[in-house]
Formats: sequence, C-alpha cells, structure tokens
Amino acid sequence: QSKETKWMMDAHLLLHKFYHHLLLNTKEGQEAYDYVTGRGFTDETLKKFGVGYALNSWDFALKFLTKRGYNQQLLEKAGLLIEKEHTAEYFDRFRNRIMFPIHDHKGNVIAFSGRVLGEGEPKYLNSPETPLFNKSKILYNFHQARPHIRKQEQVILFEGFADVIAADGAGLPNGIATMGTSLTEDQARIIRRHVENVTICYDGDNAGIEAAYRAANILIQQGCYVRIAMMPDKMDPDDYIRSKGSDSFKQDVIGASLTFMAFKLRYLRKGRNMKDEGERMRYVEDVLKEISMLTKAVERDHYLRQLADEFSISLDALKQQQFQVYKSLM
Ligand code: ATP
Ligand code: MN
Ligand code: MN
Ligand code: MN
Repeated sequence: QSKETKWMMDAHLLLHKFYHHLLLNTKEGQEAYDYVTGRGFTDETLKKFGVGYALNSWDFALKFLTKRGYNQQLLEKAGLLIEKEHTAEYFDRFRNRIMFPIHDHKGNVIAFSGRVLGEGEPKYLNSPETPLFNKSKILYNFHQARPHIRKQEQVILFEGFADVIAADGAGLPNGIATMGTSLTEDQARIIRRHVENVTICYDGDNAGIEAAYRAANILIQQGCYVRIAMMPDKMDPDDYIRSKGSDSFKQDVIGASLTFMAFKLRYLRKGRNMKDEGERMRYVEDVLKEISMLTKAVERDHYLRQLADEFSISLDALKQQQFQVYKSLM
C-alpha cells in the first residue's frame, strides 16, 4: 500500500465520520435526517451503514481536509474535489446529498455515493474511478455481508444501496449490490470465491428484469447456482419491504425465488396469448432453444419432459425438433 493510497483512505475516513456526525447530530443535517427517517431508516441502520450528509457548500470538504494537511491535488485524485477547468482551483464534488460510504472488501472507506434529498438529477452521484476505487471490482456491503454469506451459504444480489439496507433491516444481512452498473465478470468471480448460491433480487421493472437475466448468465459462467426472486410490477425490494413488511418479503419474494430456467420460462410467456396455437408453438420453440443451451444432460431431459407434459407433445417429437434447433444454433 503506497503512502498516497494511505492518505486517500485516511481522508475518506475522516470525511465519512464527519458526514455521519452531521446527519445524526446537527441542525444542518436535520432536513437530511428527516428524509432518511421518512424512508424508514432507523438510527441503528444509519449507524451500521455509516450513512451521512454532505452540507450544501462548495468548499466544506475542501476546508475540512486541507486544514488537516491534505493537499488539493491529492483530494482531486481521490475523487473528493473537482478542479475548475485548468485553474488549479477546486470545489467539493458532493454537496447537499445523503452520503453512502463505499467500503473495499476489507472495510476501508474508498469512495462515496451521494443521493439527492428527494427528486433531482443525478439521483445518485458516485465517486469517479480513482486509485482506490475500481467500480467494476467492488460490491456494496460485501465487507459486512461476508460472514453471513459464508454462514448461510447464500448471497442476495440487489440493484440498489437502499435495497441492501432495507433488506438488512428486514433481517437479511447477506445482501450486496453493484455500483449502479451491471454485474461484471470480476464481481461474479469474487462472489463465486465465497459462495455458490446466489439469489438475484432486482427491481420489478423491465430494466431490472433484463439486468437480472444478464447477471444470471455471468454468474452461471463462473459456476454459481442462481435463483431469481421476482418483484411484483414496478416495485423494488426497498418499496416492497416498506409496504408489505419483512416477513412477506422473506416468504413471498426471497422464499418464492425461481430457478433461472423457471424464470426464463415465465419471461418467455410474458405478453403471449397461450390460447393461440401458433403462439404456443413459438413458445415451445423458444423453450427448446433454452433447453439446448443447458450444459447438463440431466437438466435437458428434465425440462424436455416437463415441456412434453405441459403441451401434450410426445417426447420423441420434442427431441427431434430440439435436434433441429440445436443444429440451427451451431
Ligand atoms: P432510491 O430508492 O433511493 O430511489 P434505487 O436504489 O431504487 O434508489 P434505482 O433507480 O433503482 O435507485 O437505481 C439502482 C441503483 O443504480 C442505485 O442504487 C444507484 O447505485 C444506481 N443509480 C441510480 N441512478 C443513478 C445515477 N443517476 N447515476 C449513477 N448511479 C445511479
Ligand atoms: Mn431500478
Ligand atoms: Mn430501485
Ligand atoms: Mn428504491
């Protein structure tokens, strides 16, 4: 670890502690505190996740850290300050935002994500890529979730920080999230090093469903066993927990998760009129395609039989057609 890295981490830690203090204990942080408690975060949760508040100021972090001996170029490199175009003048990146510290997997604060209070763009502002922070290799909350992931032999992958935090409050401490980007191969590899079973619980909108599909494929490539927990229309896990409660979330969402294949079957059915003969046959063909891509013969056999039963097609006919599909994919 270089001297520079250590300075940058120290600066993050100092600033993080002060942001946290501002949110919990000060008049300046009152509006932000009301916002987060209005969203159902308890003090215990705010402490566990180190949530904070960045003042509505252009130079709070700048003064706070330079007074303590950190130089501005270094703080710019760490992503905390922004330089006004080639002027060597700097200002705070994060202003008037709820601050979520981002930790590396050892627990050091290496970046922030700041959320606007209420509506506004961008909703979340992240630290840029820095010598400390490589977005594609960091998983939010991994440092705290790791022991639970090991013990339960199970990880839950969410889309947003708020979902991880709400799930923790609901008694599911084994949740992690990506940094507002889709899951990378590096992240999947890190996950697989610790656990085999992954439940993906993304938002119930189209973006969430498509992202879940992609993430599942990446995880399967790394050798994970994937299930998908589906959210009712347009809700996200945080919304769900707040409106329907922790028990329902655990039972009806996480407990009712589908295997990836079952998820695909449901997904392929969406928007199709299964009473129509032609549409039904197109569905069967799509499912055959999915079955052909399964690597385990036992699984292929299982789903072929299931398909044969459901549509009263002979297994022989399906196998023959699957062979055609298989050839067409080669
Ligand atoms: P909230 O509940 O606070 O509104 P969310 O987690 O439901 O937030 P989504 O819109 O579902 O927000 O986005 C999921 C994740 O994507 C966020 O947690 C954040 O990490 C990331 N994200 C969202 N908007 C942006 C943005 N404008 N820039 C960067 N990342 C973003
Ligand atoms: Mn979303
Ligand atoms: Mn969401
Ligand atoms: Mn949300």
